[in-house]
Amino acid sequence: MSLRLRLGLVAAAAAGTASRLLGRGNGVAIAGRVLVAVAPSALRELAAGRRIVLVSGTNGKTSTTGLLASLLAPLGPVSTNGTGANLTGGIAAALAARPRAQTVALEVDEMHLPLMLDALQPQAVLLLNLSRDQLHRTQEVRVIANRWREALDRHPEVHAIIDYEDPFLAYVTQAHERTTRLGFGFRTHLDAACCPGCSHPLTWQPPRYHCAQCGLGGRSVHRTEQAAGAVERNAALAREAARWMGVADPPVDRTRDRVASLRLAGRDLHLRLVKNPASWTEALAHLPAGPVVLAVNARGVDGRDTSWLWDVDYTPLRGHDVVVTGERRLDAAYRIGVAGVPHRVAADLEQAVAALPSDQAITVLMSYTAYIAVAS
Ligand SMILES: [Zn+2]
Repeated sequence: MSLRLRLGLVAAAAAGTASRLLGRGNGVAIAGRVLVAVAPSALRELAAGRRIVLVSGTNGKTSTTGLLASLLAPLGPVSTNGTGANLTGGIAAALAARPRAQTVALEVDEMHLPLMLDALQPQAVLLLNLSRDQLHRTQEVRVIANRWREALDRHPEVHAIIDYEDPFLAYVTQAHERTTRLGFGFRTHLDAACCPGCSHPLTWQPPRYHCAQCGLGGRSVHRTEQAAGAVERNAALAREAARWMGVADPPVDRTRDRVASLRLAGRDLHLRLVKNPASWTEALAHLPAGPVVLAVNARGVDGRDTSWLWDVDYTPLRGHDVVVTGERRLDAAYRIGVAGVPHRVAADLEQAVAALPSDQAITVLMSYTAYIAVAS
């Protein structure tokens, strides 16, 4: 360990402690930033000699990284950034926290992935999915896909594990020899009417999308898995990564989901966080029977722009008893009214629950700030 890195670790620990004492959070991100400022080569030094898997994608990074870290436990102590601190500071802090853990599983922000491939020289990268967060960001998906592809070009030694049903990931790894491609059966993708590589319209027919111009989608997959939704797909991808790292038989864990349960006014509520068109579509496609409440806010991290509401297919709501609430309930109510879904509007969650018959559990789909307000 270089003197500079040792100094950096001392300074980082002090900054983290100061931040906690001042009540400014857990101090992880600031400690990491101080470390990298004092010792610019800290990431490279801390990563040296360890076996590292990076996890990135639009949806499910934090939970999938957590699952992967637990699946890797049979290999020995695992270093991971379990708090979702997925930028340089958080990653440096995670590596510094357990410097002797030989196995490392790190969640990485999509835009930071190329930088981290260069700095950490991981053995493998697990790519979950790519979709837009907001309606106007389609171009960002293409930009990220291009950056990922360029980064893998620079690192032919890195093993990629991907969901081949996502055309963007097929494009990212199209020329990358060391790729494990998982198949999950036919499904569509909101942002991939055209080929991410050559812009030719994709043909969307089972068994898979296909580009007649460049052949995207035509490779065979290494393994096909059954998965009821994104959570199960991500779990299957995590198991594949664990297998690749040397875990003989990673167990199936169906308990991890962003679902919380709550009793409110004597009623059982199952809360589900939905934060972008992909996760709304996913949640609606797998609705249990019974009444549904949609709680839509548009504050800060939710994105203030509610145009994404028009990007989601609401027809699975037909036949359910539906109540719409949240600060942007009128936007949401108008949208699902256009989709022909009968519904009521309520001022808040308690009134929404009171409006529903009392003999069934209620599924509540909530945007981020609405979810945090009741689930934490
Ligand atoms: Zn093409």
